[in-house]
Amino acid sequence: MYYVPDGTEVCGFYECEDCDSRFLNIRIVPRMVCPYCGKAVDMEIGPDDETPVEREAAKLLQTVEGEDVEKYDTLLSLAVTGGDYSWI
Ligand SMILES: [Zn+2]
Repeated sequence: MYYVPDGTEVCGFYECEDCDSRFLNIRIVPRMVCPYCGKAVDMEIGPDDETPVEREAAKLLQTVEGEDVEKYDTLLSLAVTGGDYSWI
């Protein structure tokens, strides 16, 4: 399993509105901060600037249950790696 632990019975299938990443997460919430583009909160800003708010750009498309968890995980992880294992 790539996105969620082995034995996961239900998880959320998310798509990011900013970078179009699709991923699974064991948390099921309506929106979450994208793990790919959403964590780049700039801490170098001046003290007078507003505190940056984490943008929850990834939205829940659907919940995935049972055998579909492994199926989605496999399909999505193949899409991410593109079948190119030379980086390992
Ligand atoms: Zn993103």
